[in-house]
Amino acid sequence: MMLGLDDRVAVVTGGSSGIGLATVELLLEEGARVVTCGRDPARLDAALAPLAERHGDRLAWGAADVLVEADMARLADVAVARFGNVDVLVNNAGRSLMAPFAETSDAQWLAELELKFFGALRPLRAVQPWLAKSPVGAVVNLNAVLARQPEGRLVATSAARAGLLNLSKSLAGELAPDGIRVNSVCVGLIDTGQWRRRYDAAMASGDTGDTYEAWSAHLARDRAIVLGRLGRADEVAAAVVFLLSPRASYVTGTQIEVSGGVSRYV
Ligand code: NDP
Repeated sequence: MMLGLDDRVAVVTGGSSGIGLATVELLLEEGARVVTCGRDPARLDAALAPLAERHGDRLAWGAADVLVEADMARLADVAVARFGNVDVLVNNAGRSLMAPFAETSDAQWLAELELKFFGALRPLRAVQPWLAKSPVGAVVNLNAVLARQPEGRLVATSAARAGLLNLSKSLAGELAPDGIRVNSVCVGLIDTGQWRRRYDAAMASGDTGDTYEAWSAHLARDRAIVLGRLGRADEVAAAVVFLLSPRASYVTGTQIEVSGGVSRYV
């Protein structure tokens, strides 16, 4: 199915790893032009250089923090200077905080709320005038099943995710008159840098002696993932890119869950 993204301009935050990187790659394969960012320039260069070899004239990147307004303005400027417009935005950059209520400090609460809300709002504000000019303006906010199915071990992240899902619905209503659709992709456990880092930490602390494969298979059983495994970043990217595309032209204010069936709600 052609998605109708040929030559459209996408801004993807957090494109140096995991879901963001897979989304950048799929957008390029669909013919889009892509601008992406992360905070670490060396990590960006290492991840994106292979894609640039194949799609060089349609890919640009730069170090930028989604929480810094000036960085987001610069990213939008790069997109417009290089490609003339911004049609779609993916708010992907982020991480989660593994801690229960008793172990979450006020500073951690504030940092988590700032990341989840302003990590989406600052990029949106930077590109919103361009999205409004586009005939196919769309935003996808990366979110998690946690937004609707909180976990005590991720108490601040769960609450912040619920807020972002709620905010996405409000934005869908407010931006609809400008022709901008806003949707969310709610993921379960996806095999990316986040889980590799947790595995490395478990190894370092002696909590596991398993291989990564055995450790992640145990994780899938422990969390009762119906499909019995962690997801892949490209499986999430497929949902993100569909929602961004004109093929989803009547879809706004909603979410697609990509979780292997980990959610217990109907
Ligand atoms: P990764 O850790 O693999 O990649 C995160 C990306 O975001 C990196 O490119 C990172 O680069 C970038 N990033 C992080 N913070 C910032 C920032 N402040 N400004 C700019 N870039 C930033 O993560 P995933 O692919 O796993 O996760 C992608 C999204 O999906 C995140 O929002 C995550 O919370 C969410 N998610 C993932 C789950 C999973 O199981 N993988 C589960 C639930 C939600 P750098 O560090 O150099 O800035």
